[in-house]
Amino acid sequence: MTTEDELIASDILRLHCPMLIELAKLIADPQVRNKGTIGGDIAHGDPGNDHLGLMLVLNAQFVINFPP
Ligand SMILES: Cc1cc2nc3c(=O)[nH]c(=O)nc-3n(C[C@H](O)[C@H](O)[C@H](O)COP(=O)(O)OP(=O)(O)OC[C@H]3O[C@@H](n4cnc5c(N)ncnc54)[C@H](O)[C@@H]3O)c2cc1C
Repeated sequence: MTTEDELIASDILRLHCPMLIELAKLIADPQVRNKGTIGGDIAHGDPGNDHLGLMLVLNAQFVINFPP
């Protein structure tokens, strides 16, 4: 539920993972960055979405929770 704008404003990311901030700044326009989330960008399954490539580079791991 974390929006792109929240990623961009995060001091923790600025310190530990500034690449994520730089990528979030490149996504679309202010309206999309204000509403779009990192989770939605990845889960949406659009191969053109930018977070997917960075997640591969970072060797990201995900915890998937299925509703009961
Ligand atoms: C005009 C426009 C331009 C865009 N340009 C870019 C771009 O340049 N680069 C880019 O990378 N993306 C771009 N996008 C995609 C955008 O950044 C959003 O990621 C995308 O629209 C999904 O929206 P959302 O994050 O609100 O997710 P939602 O629409 O809320 O969710 C999308 C799907 O993912 C599921 N989902 C959401 N969050 C989670 C979660 N945490 N766990 C599991 N499933 C989840 C939802 O159930 C749904 O099926 C663009 C979108 C638009 C409309």
